[in-house]
Order: sequence, then structure tokens, then C-alpha cells
Amino acid sequence: MTDRETSGERWPEWLPLRSVLRGRTPYGAPQIEASARLNTNENPYPLPASVITSIATGVEEILSGLNRYPDRDAIELRSRLATYVNDRLLTSAHHQSKITPAHIWPANGSNEVLQSILLAFGESVAGFTPSYSMHPILTEAVGKSFKTVPLKSDFLPDIELLRGFLAAKKPEIFFLTTPNNPTGRSLPIATIAEIASMIALHRGLLIVDEAYGEFSAEESAVNLIDQHPHVVVVRTMSKAFAFAGARIGYAIARPEVIDALQLVRLPYHLSAITQAAAIAAIDHSDVLLAEVEEIRVNRDATDAALREMGFLTVPSDANFILFGGFADLNPSRAWDSAALWRALLDRDVLIRDVGIPGFLRVTIGTSEENAAFLESLRQVIGS
Ligand SMILES: *Cc1c(COP(=O)(O)O)cnc(C)c1O
Repeated sequence: MTDRETSGERWPEWLPLRSVLRGRTPYGAPQIEASARLNTNENPYPLPASVITSIATGVEEILSGLNRYPDRDAIELRSRLATYVNDRLLTSAHHQSKITPAHIWPANGSNEVLQSILLAFGESVAGFTPSYSMHPILTEAVGKSFKTVPLKSDFLPDIELLRGFLAAKKPEIFFLTTPNNPTGRSLPIATIAEIASMIALHRGLLIVDEAYGEFSAEESAVNLIDQHPHVVVVRTMSKAFAFAGARIGYAIARPEVIDALQLVRLPYHLSAITQAAAIAAIDHSDVLLAEVEEIRVNRDATDAALREMGFLTVPSDANFILFGGFADLNPSRAWDSAALWRALLDRDVLIRDVGIPGFLRVTIGTSEENAAFLESLRQVIGS
């Protein structure tokens, strides 16, 4: 073996890879075949036939125009998204003015939105840990460093610790994920408002990642934008809308924020096919979101079943559950996360080891998948 191989460096010398990227591996959960795939928080239900027909019609209508670049400003899609936000997320108690297309920026998944935010704003970036691992990965890939504030052992923020951290470090971008991934815990809007006020004391943006917002019982931080112009909400159609394969996410923020994002967008970043598909899907939000309630019911049933088996669960407001307490469940065998993950995979159930010792994360699937997960877990732990 050469030194390069023993040191784990897999890049040839002639390749001028940036030093921040050396030693890294691409992000991603293993895409392993399993009969129950409960590892990436997707919606388990395929699109209903009526939605498929509308998408096919919508896409077909634009195909003859594919020789031209798409609408660079995605005006129609932005106006549909604005209507969705106004109808579903705004509660007039907090928000006086309406969301308009000028408040919305869609891109290829909310990850592209997050990357654009990092390209446009701020030198110093921070967020809680544990939280969504792409926030630090995207931050470091654009050449900035990511500072972390630990959550408490119940995975909620320590507000006084945060206050001290923000006053000392003054991060220009602060990420808050609610419901949080991988914990599932959400924050009430009053707490988010308090954090926004702390960040307003220095010049900073609060990025509220609401990828799981539709599953949550809490109010959206969109309602804070009127009073806190530095709040940026990021949402996605990947989870609740069962649209992960289409790649649509969007920012909701003051028009000044959206205007600044235009400085870093790629020309014609959102294909005409994607725009047409997303417009058709939003027209069917009622049908697509009908399953959200079912997933919430199944989540609560899975949580109850896990507790009954003696596991410890973190209260989830999303479509997944972080659970632990398996180390001392079976007196003859102390399971750790990696071994339990593997034993479930051997039974054709794929969940996620998110790197928190003593915990694993399971996505809520169909009733059959959830039953297979619980039964496999019962067998593994009892064995
Ligand atoms: C899944 C997820 C995303 C969504 O990513 P897309 O690029 O929109 O598919 C964003 N944030 C969090 C916290 C997530 O878990």
C-alpha cells in the first residue's frame, strides 16, 4: 500500500482539490434495498393517480417549448407557493400583510435554497447540535466555518446558553430546524420569536428550516416575518408533499432577502419541467397533504408501541422518531446503535444511525412497514 492509501487520501496529486474538501466523503444515507425503507424521512405513499395525470398534462404542455430557457423568475410557481403559504401557514393573529411572489424563492430542493443563502450572506455561521448535518456541510463547502451550540439532554435549546453564545459570537447566519432533524422536537413560535430577538441585537439572519413543518402542530415561523425582517423560513415539497424525487424547496422571506438571493442563483436554475410538475402538485395540495394526518396518527402509534416495549422515545412533531434506551433493555446483551441498526437490516428493515450514541432514527412508513419494523425490533431485542 502507498502512503496515500494508508492515510485514507483517495485523490490523485494532480487534482487541485480545495483543502477544505480533502478527507471528506460525499453526504448521503446509504441507498440500500430493503423491504421497509425507513431511513430518509420520505413520505411512504406514492402519488395518487389524479395527481400523476395532472403532472403529466402540465409537463406535456411545456414540452414543445423546451428549446427555450425556462421562466428564470418562476413567476407562476412562486405565485402558487405564495397562495399556499397564505392559505395554510399564515395565522392573522401574528401576521398583518400577505405573502406575495416577491417573498418566495424556489429552487431544486431546499438544500439548494440553503446553499444560496450561504453564498449570499454572512461570514460567520452557527446552529444547534444535534441538528441537520447538511447545514455544517454546506457551510464548510462554501469556505465558511460552522460553530455549534449544544442542545440539552432532552434535545431542547438552553435559552440562556444560546443568549451568551449569540452575544459572544454574533453569527450572521443562525440555523434553527423545527421540527428538528434528527430529534423530531419542535419549538413553539414564542421561543422562535425570542431567538429572533436575540439575533436582532447584532446584524444576523435566523434561518428557520421547516422541512417537516406540515407534520407539526406548531405555528410556522412565516408568521414572524412581519415583525422580524431577518427571519428566513425554508420549506420543501420533499417530505409532506411526497415529492422528494421532483426536487422542490423554497425560501419565504422579506423581498429584500429574496432579491439578494438573485445575486448568487444559477441562470435558469429551475427547469421548465420541474416548474410545471410543482405547479400541478401544488394544485393538488389537499390530496397530497391528506396523508400527513395519517402519518401523524401512525407516528403516535409507533411511539406508543416503542415505549411499551421499554424504549425511550424523543417526543416527535415530525414523520420520524428518535429512540434509544436499548443498551440495557436485554440483560444478556447491551445493544449499541451500530449493532442494532445492522440487526434490523438483516431482517430487511432499513432505518438510520444518525451518529448519536445510544439512539437510532426511524421514519414513519406505511402501516405494513411500521409493523415490520416493530416486529423485527421485538425479535432482535428478545434474541
Ligand atoms: C429533508 C430535509 C431537507 C430537505 O431537503 P430537500 O433538498 O428539499 O429535499 C431540508 N432540511 C431538513 C432539516 C431536512 O431533513
